[in-house]
Amino acid sequence: MTIQQPIARHQNPQQPDSQQFGAEVGPAVERARVAAQWWGGLDFAERKTWMLEFRATVARTSASLIDTMREETGKPKDDALLEVMLAVEHLTWAAKNARRVLRERSVFPGPVSINHAASVRYQPMGVVGVIGPWNYPVYTPMGSIAYAMAAGNAVVFKPSELTPHTGRWLAEAWASLGAPHPVLQAVTGDGRVGEALCRAGVDKLAFTGSTATAKKVMAVCAESLTPIVVEGGGKDALIVDSSANIEAAADFAAFGAMGNAGQTCAGVERVYVVDAVADRFVAALTRRVENLSVGDGDGSHYGRMTLPRQVDIVRDQVEDAIARGGRAVVGGPESIRAPYVDPIVLVDVPEDSTAMSEETFGPTVVVNRIKDLDEGVEKANASKYGLGASVFTADADAAERAAERLRVGVVTINSVLGFAAVGALPFGGVGDSGFGRIHGADGLREFSRVKSVARQRFTAPLGLATMTRKRRDVTIARWLLTRVYGR
Ligand code: NAP
Repeated sequence: MTIQQPIARHQNPQQPDSQQFGAEVGPAVERARVAAQWWGGLDFAERKTWMLEFRATVARTSASLIDTMREETGKPKDDALLEVMLAVEHLTWAAKNARRVLRERSVFPGPVSINHAASVRYQPMGVVGVIGPWNYPVYTPMGSIAYAMAAGNAVVFKPSELTPHTGRWLAEAWASLGAPHPVLQAVTGDGRVGEALCRAGVDKLAFTGSTATAKKVMAVCAESLTPIVVEGGGKDALIVDSSANIEAAADFAAFGAMGNAGQTCAGVERVYVVDAVADRFVAALTRRVENLSVGDGDGSHYGRMTLPRQVDIVRDQVEDAIARGGRAVVGGPESIRAPYVDPIVLVDVPEDSTAMSEETFGPTVVVNRIKDLDEGVEKANASKYGLGASVFTADADAAERAAERLRVGVVTINSVLGFAAVGALPFGGVGDSGFGRIHGADGLREFSRVKSVARQRFTAPLGLATMTRKRRDVTIARWLLTRVYGR
Protein backbone atom coordinates (compact mmCIF):
# COMPACT_ATOMS: atom_id res chain seq x y z
CA MET A 1 0.00 0.00 0.00
CA THR A 2 1.50 3.34 -0.98
CA ILE A 3 0.32 6.37 0.87
CA GLN A 4 0.74 9.61 -1.01
CA GLN A 5 0.79 12.78 0.96
CA PRO A 6 0.18 15.50 1.75
CA ILE A 7 -3.46 15.45 0.86
CA ALA A 8 -4.52 18.41 -1.23
CA ARG A 9 -6.75 20.70 0.71
CA HIS A 10 -9.69 22.55 -0.75
CA GLN A 11 -9.87 20.62 -3.95
CA ASN A 12 -12.78 22.69 -5.04
CA PRO A 13 -15.77 20.46 -4.42
CA GLN A 14 -18.23 20.72 -7.25
CA GLN A 15 -21.30 22.54 -6.08
CA PRO A 16 -23.84 21.23 -8.56
CA ASP A 17 -26.21 23.75 -10.14
CA SER A 18 -29.93 23.12 -9.99
CA GLN A 19 -29.90 20.86 -13.08
CA GLN A 20 -27.14 18.77 -11.70
CA PHE A 21 -28.47 17.96 -8.27
CA GLY A 22 -27.73 14.35 -7.68
CA ALA A 23 -25.75 14.07 -10.94
CA GLU A 24 -22.67 13.20 -8.95
CA VAL A 25 -24.54 10.77 -6.71
CA GLY A 26 -25.55 8.04 -9.18
CA PRO A 27 -22.02 7.46 -10.57
CA ALA A 28 -20.58 7.57 -7.04
CA VAL A 29 -23.00 4.88 -5.88
CA GLU A 30 -22.18 2.80 -8.99
CA ARG A 31 -18.46 3.05 -8.21
CA ALA A 32 -19.22 2.22 -4.59
CA ARG A 33 -21.10 -0.89 -5.68
CA VAL A 34 -18.00 -2.16 -7.45
CA ALA A 35 -15.85 -1.13 -4.49
CA ALA A 36 -18.18 -2.99 -2.15
CA GLN A 37 -17.62 -6.22 -4.11
CA TRP A 38 -13.90 -5.96 -3.57
CA TRP A 39 -14.02 -4.64 -0.01
CA GLY A 40 -16.70 -7.05 1.17
CA GLY A 41 -14.67 -9.92 -0.32
CA LEU A 42 -11.61 -9.13 1.82
CA ASP A 43 -11.25 -10.89 5.13
CA PHE A 44 -11.41 -9.00 8.43
CA ALA A 45 -7.63 -8.90 8.79
CA GLU A 46 -7.17 -7.36 5.34
CA ARG A 47 -9.83 -4.74 5.97
CA LYS A 48 -8.28 -3.95 9.32
CA THR A 49 -4.91 -3.33 7.65
CA TRP A 50 -6.44 -0.88 5.16
CA MET A 51 -8.43 0.87 7.87
CA LEU A 52 -5.44 1.30 10.12
CA GLU A 53 -3.54 2.75 7.14
CA PHE A 54 -6.46 5.12 6.67
CA ARG A 55 -6.25 6.05 10.33
CA ALA A 56 -2.51 6.66 10.08
CA THR A 57 -3.00 8.93 7.08
CA VAL A 58 -5.74 10.93 8.78
CA ALA A 59 -3.64 11.29 11.92
CA ARG A 60 -0.37 12.11 10.13
CA THR A 61 -1.87 14.73 7.84
CA SER A 62 -4.45 16.03 10.31
CA ALA A 63 -3.00 19.56 10.33
CA SER A 64 -4.66 20.32 7.00
CA LEU A 65 -7.88 18.64 8.09
CA ILE A 66 -7.91 20.77 11.23
CA ASP A 67 -7.37 23.94 9.18
CA THR A 68 -10.19 22.96 6.85
CA MET A 69 -12.59 22.26 9.72
CA ARG A 70 -11.62 25.50 11.36
CA GLU A 71 -12.29 27.51 8.23
CA GLU A 72 -15.61 25.86 7.58
CA THR A 73 -17.04 25.77 11.10
CA GLY A 74 -15.22 28.55 12.97
CA LYS A 75 -14.22 26.22 15.81
CA PRO A 76 -10.86 26.82 17.54
CA LYS A 77 -7.92 24.72 16.38
CA ASP A 78 -7.69 22.78 19.64
CA ASP A 79 -11.34 21.76 19.41
CA ALA A 80 -10.82 20.60 15.84
CA LEU A 81 -7.78 18.61 16.97
CA LEU A 82 -9.75 16.91 19.73
CA GLU A 83 -12.49 16.08 17.27
CA VAL A 84 -10.02 14.36 14.96
CA MET A 85 -8.62 12.46 17.96
CA LEU A 86 -12.10 11.16 18.78
CA ALA A 87 -12.78 10.18 15.18
CA VAL A 88 -9.48 8.31 14.99
CA GLU A 89 -10.33 6.52 18.23
CA HIS A 90 -13.52 5.17 16.68
CA LEU A 91 -11.79 4.27 13.44
CA THR A 92 -9.35 2.23 15.49
CA TRP A 93 -12.02 0.51 17.57
CA ALA A 94 -14.14 -0.39 14.56
CA ALA A 95 -11.14 -1.73 12.63
CA LYS A 96 -9.82 -3.79 15.53
CA ASN A 97 -13.10 -5.22 16.77
CA ALA A 98 -14.98 -6.02 13.58
CA ARG A 99 -13.74 -9.61 13.44
CA ARG A 100 -14.59 -10.36 17.07
CA VAL A 101 -18.08 -8.91 16.76
CA LEU A 102 -19.03 -9.95 13.25
CA ARG A 103 -17.38 -13.30 12.67
CA GLU A 104 -19.66 -16.25 12.16
CA ARG A 105 -20.78 -17.81 15.43
CA SER A 106 -22.49 -21.07 16.27
CA VAL A 107 -25.60 -21.08 18.42
CA PHE A 108 -27.19 -23.95 20.34
CA PRO A 109 -30.07 -25.30 18.22
CA GLY A 110 -32.24 -26.40 21.17
CA PRO A 111 -33.48 -29.89 22.07
CA VAL A 112 -36.12 -30.17 19.32
CA SER A 113 -33.64 -29.27 16.57
CA ILE A 114 -30.62 -31.01 18.06
CA ASN A 115 -29.92 -32.62 14.66
CA HIS A 116 -29.00 -29.17 13.27
CA ALA A 117 -25.88 -27.07 13.39
CA ALA A 118 -27.03 -23.46 13.73
CA SER A 119 -24.97 -20.39 12.98
CA VAL A 120 -25.33 -16.63 12.61
CA ARG A 121 -23.42 -14.60 10.07
CA TYR A 122 -23.07 -10.84 9.75
CA GLN A 123 -22.63 -9.96 6.12
CA PRO A 124 -21.86 -6.59 4.57
CA MET A 125 -24.93 -4.78 3.29
CA GLY A 126 -23.20 -3.34 0.21
CA VAL A 127 -23.27 0.44 -0.15
CA VAL A 128 -24.04 2.66 2.82
CA GLY A 129 -25.02 6.30 2.28
CA VAL A 130 -23.92 8.59 5.11
CA ILE A 131 -25.48 12.06 5.49
CA GLY A 132 -23.73 14.20 8.07
CA PRO A 133 -24.12 17.51 9.91
CA TRP A 134 -21.72 20.45 10.18
CA ASN A 135 -21.24 20.74 13.96
CA TYR A 136 -18.71 17.89 14.27
CA PRO A 137 -18.05 17.32 10.58
CA VAL A 138 -15.41 14.60 11.17
CA TYR A 139 -16.31 12.89 14.44
CA THR A 140 -20.03 12.58 13.82
CA PRO A 141 -20.01 11.03 10.34
CA MET A 142 -17.03 8.87 11.29
CA GLY A 143 -19.35 7.15 13.76
CA SER A 144 -21.16 5.77 10.74
CA ILE A 145 -18.35 5.70 8.16
CA ALA A 146 -15.84 3.73 10.26
CA TYR A 147 -18.35 1.17 11.49
CA ALA A 148 -19.94 0.72 8.05
CA MET A 149 -16.52 0.23 6.44
CA ALA A 150 -15.31 -2.13 9.14
CA ALA A 151 -18.44 -4.21 8.55
CA GLY A 152 -17.39 -4.59 4.90
CA ASN A 153 -19.45 -1.86 3.19
CA ALA A 154 -18.46 0.88 0.78
CA VAL A 155 -19.57 4.36 1.81
CA VAL A 156 -20.83 7.39 -0.10
CA PHE A 157 -20.73 10.35 2.26
CA LYS A 158 -22.75 13.56 1.85
CA PRO A 159 -21.38 16.15 4.29
CA SER A 160 -23.31 19.28 5.22
CA GLU A 161 -23.22 22.01 2.61
CA LEU A 162 -21.39 24.06 5.26
CA THR A 163 -18.52 21.57 5.48
CA PRO A 164 -17.99 20.15 1.96
CA HIS A 165 -14.20 20.43 2.00
CA THR A 166 -13.97 18.51 5.24
CA GLY A 167 -16.02 15.73 3.66
CA ARG A 168 -13.87 15.75 0.53
CA TRP A 169 -10.75 15.69 2.66
CA LEU A 170 -11.78 12.40 4.24
CA ALA A 171 -12.54 10.81 0.87
CA GLU A 172 -9.22 12.05 -0.50
CA ALA A 173 -7.42 10.61 2.50
CA TRP A 174 -8.86 7.23 1.58
CA ALA A 175 -8.00 7.75 -2.11
CA SER A 176 -4.41 8.57 -1.18
CA LEU A 177 -3.94 5.03 0.15
CA GLY A 178 -3.93 3.77 -3.43
CA ALA A 179 -6.57 1.10 -2.82
CA PRO A 180 -7.94 -0.46 -6.01
CA HIS A 181 -11.44 0.90 -5.32
CA PRO A 182 -13.00 3.98 -3.70
CA VAL A 183 -14.42 2.45 -0.55
CA LEU A 184 -15.10 5.95 0.78
CA GLN A 185 -16.33 8.73 -1.50
CA ALA A 186 -17.84 12.14 -0.83
CA VAL A 187 -20.60 13.88 -2.77
CA THR A 188 -21.27 17.51 -1.96
CA GLY A 189 -24.09 19.97 -2.27
CA ASP A 190 -27.17 20.86 -0.28
CA GLY A 191 -30.13 18.84 0.97
CA ARG A 192 -31.15 17.93 -2.58
CA VAL A 193 -27.93 15.96 -2.96
CA GLY A 194 -28.78 14.18 0.30
CA GLU A 195 -32.20 13.39 -1.08
CA ALA A 196 -30.62 12.06 -4.28
CA LEU A 197 -28.44 9.80 -2.14
CA CYS A 198 -31.55 8.46 -0.39
CA ARG A 199 -33.01 7.62 -3.80
CA ALA A 200 -29.82 6.17 -5.28
CA GLY A 201 -30.41 2.58 -4.27
CA VAL A 202 -28.03 2.47 -1.32
CA ASP A 203 -28.46 -0.54 0.94
CA LYS A 204 -28.62 1.54 4.11
CA LEU A 205 -28.74 5.21 4.92
CA ALA A 206 -27.07 6.58 8.05
CA PHE A 207 -28.43 10.02 8.81
CA THR A 208 -27.14 12.46 11.42
CA GLY A 209 -28.83 15.81 11.68
CA SER A 210 -31.98 17.48 12.91
CA THR A 211 -35.16 15.62 13.68
CA ALA A 212 -37.08 17.62 11.07
CA THR A 213 -34.71 16.55 8.30
CA ALA A 214 -34.68 12.98 9.61
CA LYS A 215 -38.42 12.79 8.94
CA LYS A 216 -37.90 13.91 5.33
CA VAL A 217 -35.07 11.43 4.87
CA MET A 218 -37.15 8.64 6.34
CA ALA A 219 -40.08 9.47 4.04
CA VAL A 220 -37.87 9.28 0.95
CA CYS A 221 -36.16 6.09 2.14
CA ALA A 222 -39.60 4.57 2.79
CA GLU A 223 -40.34 4.72 -0.95
CA SER A 224 -37.72 2.04 -1.59
CA LEU A 225 -37.76 0.43 1.89
CA THR A 226 -34.17 1.56 2.34
CA PRO A 227 -33.35 0.97 6.01
CA ILE A 228 -32.04 3.93 7.95
CA VAL A 229 -30.37 4.77 11.20
CA VAL A 230 -31.23 8.20 12.61
CA GLU A 231 -28.95 10.19 14.91
CA GLY A 232 -31.15 13.18 15.60
CA GLY A 233 -31.14 16.21 17.83
CA GLY A 234 -31.17 16.40 21.61
CA LYS A 235 -32.16 18.44 24.65
CA ASP A 236 -29.87 16.82 27.17
CA ALA A 237 -30.33 17.38 30.87
CA LEU A 238 -27.70 17.44 33.60
CA ILE A 239 -29.03 16.66 37.07
CA VAL A 240 -27.18 17.78 40.19
CA ASP A 241 -27.93 16.06 43.50
CA SER A 242 -27.30 17.70 46.87
CA SER A 243 -24.42 15.27 47.53
CA ALA A 244 -22.65 16.17 44.27
CA ASN A 245 -19.26 17.81 43.99
CA ILE A 246 -20.69 21.18 42.99
CA GLU A 247 -17.46 22.62 41.58
CA ALA A 248 -16.95 19.58 39.35
CA ALA A 249 -20.59 19.61 38.26
CA ALA A 250 -20.35 23.31 37.36
CA ASP A 251 -17.12 22.72 35.48
CA PHE A 252 -18.61 19.94 33.37
CA ALA A 253 -21.86 21.90 32.89
CA ALA A 254 -19.87 24.84 31.53
CA PHE A 255 -18.00 22.60 29.11
CA GLY A 256 -21.10 20.64 28.09
CA ALA A 257 -23.17 23.78 27.52
CA MET A 258 -20.66 26.20 26.00
CA GLY A 259 -18.09 23.95 24.27
CA ASN A 260 -18.25 24.17 20.47
CA ALA A 261 -20.54 27.22 20.98
CA GLY A 262 -23.18 24.86 22.34
CA GLN A 263 -23.49 23.22 18.93
CA THR A 264 -23.30 19.69 20.29
CA CYS A 265 -26.10 17.18 19.82
CA ALA A 266 -25.49 15.74 23.28
CA GLY A 267 -24.50 19.08 24.83
CA VAL A 268 -25.98 20.26 28.11
CA GLU A 269 -29.07 22.42 27.48
CA ARG A 270 -31.04 21.91 30.70
CA VAL A 271 -29.65 21.70 34.22
CA TYR A 272 -31.79 20.53 37.16
CA VAL A 273 -30.24 21.24 40.54
CA VAL A 274 -31.53 20.18 43.93
CA ASP A 275 -32.76 23.31 45.66
CA ALA A 276 -30.41 23.05 48.64
CA VAL A 277 -27.32 23.46 46.43
CA ALA A 278 -28.79 25.50 43.57
CA ASP A 279 -27.38 28.89 44.62
CA ARG A 280 -23.90 27.44 45.04
CA PHE A 281 -24.13 25.73 41.68
CA VAL A 282 -25.32 28.84 39.82
CA ALA A 283 -22.53 30.88 41.39
CA ALA A 284 -19.92 28.28 40.40
CA LEU A 285 -21.29 28.02 36.86
CA THR A 286 -21.37 31.81 36.53
CA ARG A 287 -17.72 32.09 37.56
CA ARG A 288 -16.77 29.58 34.90
CA VAL A 289 -18.66 31.01 31.95
CA GLU A 290 -18.91 34.78 32.43
CA ASN A 291 -15.41 35.46 31.18
CA LEU A 292 -15.10 32.93 28.41
CA SER A 293 -13.51 34.40 25.33
CA VAL A 294 -15.55 34.08 22.18
CA GLY A 295 -14.16 34.80 18.76
CA ASP A 296 -12.00 33.68 15.87
CA GLY A 297 -8.66 33.61 17.62
CA ASP A 298 -7.07 30.31 18.52
CA GLY A 299 -7.07 31.38 22.16
CA SER A 300 -10.85 31.59 22.12
CA HIS A 301 -12.90 29.15 24.15
CA TYR A 302 -15.30 28.85 21.25
CA GLY A 303 -15.97 30.51 17.93
CA ARG A 304 -18.80 31.74 15.80
CA MET A 305 -22.15 30.11 15.26
CA THR A 306 -21.55 27.94 12.21
CA LEU A 307 -25.09 28.07 10.86
CA PRO A 308 -26.11 31.76 10.62
CA ARG A 309 -29.85 31.11 11.05
CA GLN A 310 -29.24 29.30 14.35
CA VAL A 311 -28.53 32.71 15.92
CA ASP A 312 -32.20 33.65 15.47
CA ILE A 313 -33.33 30.43 17.13
CA VAL A 314 -31.13 31.19 20.14
CA ARG A 315 -32.44 34.76 20.30
CA ASP A 316 -36.09 33.65 20.09
CA GLN A 317 -35.63 31.09 22.84
CA VAL A 318 -33.82 33.49 25.19
CA GLU A 319 -36.46 36.19 24.66
CA ASP A 320 -39.30 33.71 25.15
CA ALA A 321 -37.72 32.40 28.37
CA ILE A 322 -37.30 35.91 29.79
CA ALA A 323 -40.79 37.01 28.69
CA ARG A 324 -42.21 34.03 30.60
CA GLY A 325 -40.50 34.91 33.86
CA GLY A 326 -37.06 33.34 33.47
CA ARG A 327 -34.02 35.38 34.51
CA ALA A 328 -30.66 35.76 32.83
CA VAL A 329 -27.83 35.49 35.37
CA VAL A 330 -25.09 35.54 32.74
CA GLY A 331 -25.59 37.53 29.54
CA GLY A 332 -28.98 37.84 27.91
CA PRO A 333 -30.35 38.92 24.55
CA GLU A 334 -27.50 41.46 24.35
CA SER A 335 -25.01 38.54 24.27
CA ILE A 336 -26.11 37.79 20.74
CA ARG A 337 -23.83 39.64 18.35
CA ALA A 338 -23.98 37.52 15.22
CA PRO A 339 -22.11 35.51 14.19
CA TYR A 340 -21.02 35.18 17.83
CA VAL A 341 -23.07 34.46 20.91
CA ASP A 342 -21.52 35.09 24.32
CA PRO A 343 -22.44 32.67 27.12
CA ILE A 344 -25.99 32.94 28.43
CA VAL A 345 -27.18 31.31 31.66
CA LEU A 346 -30.90 31.46 32.40
CA VAL A 347 -32.60 30.38 35.62
CA ASP A 348 -36.13 29.59 36.72
CA VAL A 349 -37.42 29.19 33.19
CA PRO A 350 -40.92 27.67 32.76
CA GLU A 351 -40.73 24.09 31.57
CA ASP A 352 -43.06 24.77 28.64
CA SER A 353 -40.94 27.57 27.17
CA THR A 354 -39.09 26.81 23.94
CA ALA A 355 -35.73 27.12 25.76
CA MET A 356 -36.79 23.99 27.68
CA SER A 357 -38.63 22.07 25.00
CA GLU A 358 -36.76 22.74 21.74
CA GLU A 359 -33.15 22.12 20.84
CA THR A 360 -31.21 25.39 21.27
CA PHE A 361 -27.86 24.48 19.70
CA GLY A 362 -26.15 27.57 21.06
CA PRO A 363 -24.04 28.59 24.10
CA THR A 364 -27.09 28.93 26.32
CA VAL A 365 -28.08 26.86 29.31
CA VAL A 366 -31.05 26.90 31.65
CA VAL A 367 -30.71 26.04 35.35
CA ASN A 368 -33.94 25.09 37.12
CA ARG A 369 -34.50 23.92 40.68
CA ILE A 370 -35.79 20.52 41.76
CA LYS A 371 -36.56 19.04 45.17
CA ASP A 372 -34.65 15.79 44.64
CA LEU A 373 -33.01 13.51 42.09
CA ASP A 374 -36.31 11.76 41.31
CA GLU A 375 -37.90 15.01 40.24
CA GLY A 376 -34.82 15.72 38.14
CA VAL A 377 -35.24 12.41 36.32
CA GLU A 378 -38.94 13.10 35.76
CA LYS A 379 -38.23 16.53 34.31
CA ALA A 380 -35.36 15.24 32.19
CA ASN A 381 -37.68 12.57 30.80
CA ALA A 382 -40.44 15.05 30.00
CA SER A 383 -38.90 15.82 26.62
CA LYS A 384 -39.65 14.57 23.15
CA TYR A 385 -35.91 14.11 22.76
CA GLY A 386 -33.91 11.36 24.44
CA LEU A 387 -30.26 11.45 23.41
CA GLY A 388 -28.16 11.74 26.56
CA ALA A 389 -28.26 12.84 30.19
CA SER A 390 -25.77 13.37 33.03
CA VAL A 391 -26.17 12.81 36.74
CA PHE A 392 -23.93 14.32 39.41
CA THR A 393 -24.13 12.69 42.83
CA ALA A 394 -21.86 11.10 45.42
CA ASP A 395 -24.45 8.36 45.97
CA ALA A 396 -23.54 5.51 43.62
CA ASP A 397 -26.84 3.68 44.15
CA ALA A 398 -28.87 6.80 43.42
CA ALA A 399 -26.82 7.36 40.26
CA GLU A 400 -27.49 3.80 39.09
CA ARG A 401 -31.22 4.15 39.79
CA ALA A 402 -31.33 7.40 37.83
CA ALA A 403 -29.37 5.86 34.96
CA GLU A 404 -31.87 3.03 34.84
CA ARG A 405 -34.87 5.37 34.70
CA LEU A 406 -33.60 8.05 32.32
CA ARG A 407 -35.29 7.73 28.93
CA VAL A 408 -32.18 8.35 26.83
CA GLY A 409 -29.63 6.42 24.82
CA VAL A 410 -26.59 7.34 26.90
CA VAL A 411 -26.11 8.34 30.53
CA THR A 412 -22.98 9.91 31.97
CA ILE A 413 -22.36 9.88 35.71
CA ASN A 414 -20.22 12.61 37.29
CA SER A 415 -18.99 13.90 33.93
CA VAL A 416 -20.43 14.98 30.61
CA LEU A 417 -19.93 13.46 27.16
CA GLY A 418 -17.88 10.76 28.90
CA PHE A 419 -18.94 8.18 26.32
CA ALA A 420 -17.63 10.09 23.29
CA ALA A 421 -14.23 8.42 23.09
CA VAL A 422 -15.30 4.98 24.30
CA GLY A 423 -15.38 2.95 21.11
CA ALA A 424 -17.15 0.05 22.80
CA LEU A 425 -20.16 2.15 23.86
CA PRO A 426 -23.05 2.27 21.40
CA PHE A 427 -24.43 5.74 20.75
CA GLY A 428 -27.91 6.83 19.71
CA GLY A 429 -31.17 8.12 21.06
CA VAL A 430 -34.82 7.44 21.64
CA GLY A 431 -37.90 9.44 20.64
CA ASP A 432 -37.11 12.49 18.51
CA SER A 433 -33.40 11.83 19.00
CA GLY A 434 -33.62 8.91 16.62
CA PHE A 435 -33.16 5.18 16.52
CA GLY A 436 -30.51 2.63 15.72
CA ARG A 437 -26.98 2.78 17.07
CA ILE A 438 -23.55 3.83 15.88
CA HIS A 439 -20.30 2.96 17.74
CA GLY A 440 -19.52 -0.25 19.57
CA ALA A 441 -20.60 -3.77 18.66
CA ASP A 442 -24.16 -2.56 18.01
CA GLY A 443 -22.76 0.03 15.62
CA LEU A 444 -20.97 -2.69 13.65
CA ARG A 445 -24.10 -4.84 13.56
CA GLU A 446 -26.16 -1.82 12.47
CA PHE A 447 -24.29 -1.95 9.16
CA SER A 448 -24.49 -5.72 8.72
CA ARG A 449 -27.07 -8.03 7.25
CA VAL A 450 -27.81 -10.83 9.68
CA LYS A 451 -28.05 -14.24 8.12
CA SER A 452 -29.03 -17.36 10.01
CA VAL A 453 -28.05 -20.79 8.77
CA ALA A 454 -29.46 -24.10 10.06
CA ARG A 455 -27.68 -27.16 8.65
CA GLN A 456 -29.15 -30.62 9.21
CA ARG A 457 -26.41 -32.94 10.42
CA PHE A 458 -28.45 -36.12 10.76
CA THR A 459 -32.09 -37.18 10.50
CA ALA A 460 -34.21 -35.78 13.26
CA PRO A 461 -35.01 -38.19 16.07
CA LEU A 462 -38.42 -36.53 16.08
CA GLY A 463 -39.75 -36.53 12.50
CA LEU A 464 -42.06 -33.51 12.63
CA ALA A 465 -41.00 -31.56 9.51
CA THR A 466 -42.18 -34.21 7.08
CA MET A 467 -45.36 -35.02 5.17
CA THR A 468 -45.06 -38.60 6.48
CA ARG A 469 -45.18 -37.70 10.13
CA LYS A 470 -45.63 -40.69 12.45
CA ARG A 471 -48.26 -40.88 15.20
CA ARG A 472 -45.54 -41.75 17.68
CA ASP A 473 -43.64 -38.51 16.96
CA VAL A 474 -46.78 -36.38 17.33
CA THR A 475 -47.50 -38.13 20.66
CA ILE A 476 -43.98 -37.28 21.87
CA ALA A 477 -44.44 -33.67 20.68
CA ARG A 478 -47.73 -33.45 22.59
CA TRP A 479 -46.08 -34.88 25.70
CA LEU A 480 -43.22 -32.35 25.38
CA LEU A 481 -45.67 -29.50 24.95
CA THR A 482 -47.94 -30.32 27.87
CA ARG A 483 -45.63 -32.08 30.32
CA VAL A 484 -42.32 -30.32 29.77
CA TYR A 485 -43.11 -26.79 28.48
CA GLY A 486 -46.51 -26.66 30.21
CA ARG A 487 -45.12 -27.51 33.64
P1 NAP B 1 -29.75 19.18 9.19
O1 NAP B 1 -30.07 20.54 8.70
O2 NAP B 1 -30.85 18.27 9.53
O3 NAP B 1 -28.83 18.53 8.05
C1 NAP B 1 -28.20 17.29 8.22
C2 NAP B 1 -27.77 16.78 6.87
O4 NAP B 1 -28.93 16.47 6.10
C3 NAP B 1 -26.98 17.80 6.06
O5 NAP B 1 -25.98 17.14 5.33
C4 NAP B 1 -28.04 18.35 5.15
O6 NAP B 1 -27.54 18.92 3.99
C5 NAP B 1 -28.83 17.11 4.84
N1 NAP B 1 -30.18 17.34 4.32
C6 NAP B 1 -30.94 18.46 4.43
N2 NAP B 1 -32.14 18.25 3.84
C7 NAP B 1 -32.12 16.99 3.35
C8 NAP B 1 -33.07 16.20 2.63
N3 NAP B 1 -34.28 16.66 2.32
N4 NAP B 1 -32.74 14.94 2.30
C9 NAP B 1 -31.52 14.46 2.64
N5 NAP B 1 -30.59 15.15 3.30
C10 NAP B 1 -30.88 16.41 3.66
O7 NAP B 1 -28.79 19.23 10.45
P2 NAP B 1 -27.54 20.15 10.68
O8 NAP B 1 -28.01 21.54 10.88
O9 NAP B 1 -26.52 19.89 9.62
O10 NAP B 1 -26.94 19.57 12.04
C11 NAP B 1 -27.42 19.94 13.29
C12 NAP B 1 -28.38 18.89 13.82
O11 NAP B 1 -27.72 17.63 13.84
C13 NAP B 1 -28.79 19.16 15.26
O12 NAP B 1 -30.16 18.88 15.41
C14 NAP B 1 -27.95 18.17 16.05
O13 NAP B 1 -28.49 17.81 17.29
C15 NAP B 1 -27.91 17.02 15.10
N6 NAP B 1 -26.80 16.13 15.42
C16 NAP B 1 -27.05 14.91 15.95
C17 NAP B 1 -26.00 14.08 16.29
C18 NAP B 1 -26.24 12.71 16.86
O14 NAP B 1 -25.32 11.91 16.82
N7 NAP B 1 -27.41 12.41 17.38
C19 NAP B 1 -24.68 14.49 16.08
C20 NAP B 1 -24.45 15.75 15.54
C21 NAP B 1 -25.52 16.56 15.21
P3 NAP B 1 -27.25 20.50 3.98
O15 NAP B 1 -26.40 20.84 5.15
O16 NAP B 1 -26.52 20.63 2.75
O17 NAP B 1 -28.59 21.17 4.05
